[in-house]
Amino acid sequence: MNIILLAPPAAGKGTQAELLENKYHLNHISTGELLRKSASREDDYGKKMRSLLESGELISDDIIFEVLNKHLETCENQNLLLDGFPRNIYQAERLEEMLKENNDKIDFVFLLDVPKETLKKRITGRRICEKCGSAYNVNIDSLKPKVDSICDQCQGKLYQRNDDNEKSFEVRYQEYLDKTSALITYYQNKQILYRIESDKDKEEVFQELCERIEKRGRNDNDKK
Ligand code: AMP
Repeated sequence: MNIILLAPPAAGKGTQAELLENKYHLNHISTGELLRKSASREDDYGKKMRSLLESGELISDDIIFEVLNKHLETCENQNLLLDGFPRNIYQAERLEEMLKENNDKIDFVFLLDVPKETLKKRITGRRICEKCGSAYNVNIDSLKPKVDSICDQCQGKLYQRNDDNEKSFEVRYQEYLDKTSALITYYQNKQILYRIESDKDKEEVFQELCERIEKRGRNDNDKK
């Protein structure tokens, strides 16, 4: 099973990916996380990557495929949960070709739909665990860590992303509208896009995602 999470910035891709990964034993790949890892390098490449990420603009396709392919070489689990990738039509087409080579395909594209005003509020409160990548939000009661600045799961330290500020957010949101949102029609035409209203509690969103996945599973069994 291969899943894509498609969403504007701060819609909860990372949070839902973590829940889905655990329940369905998927290989969660966040291109944003892979890029942040590169950006933490103390050399010129890391420095360049930090400033690119902070700008909020999309990173070039060449860099994305370089980082992604390198990571895929280390993965055994072929059930992909793609978080933040693809982000434009070119990436989507290349992904399709890559999967086709292994007689594989995308099963679900979940569009996490959240109004811009909510995203703006979420962005300044978001905190990420530097050890395990779990996401929290200090502005939302149900997403606050139990102990200030400490991850509930692994006790790692929580940090705020450099691009989680209002200025970068505006650029990231515009990039989403200009380049990524074209994927909505692209995947609608392939009849694999599922819109999930995500301006609500993370458990409710997760429930809906699971129902969608399991409904398809039941339909497939009925056909057998
Ligand atoms: P995310 O963690 O998904 O919010 O991504 C953080 C940043 O990484 C984005 O604002 C982009 O600059 C960059 N990025 C992540 N994934 C991609 C992608 N598939 N294509 C281009 N840029 C990306």
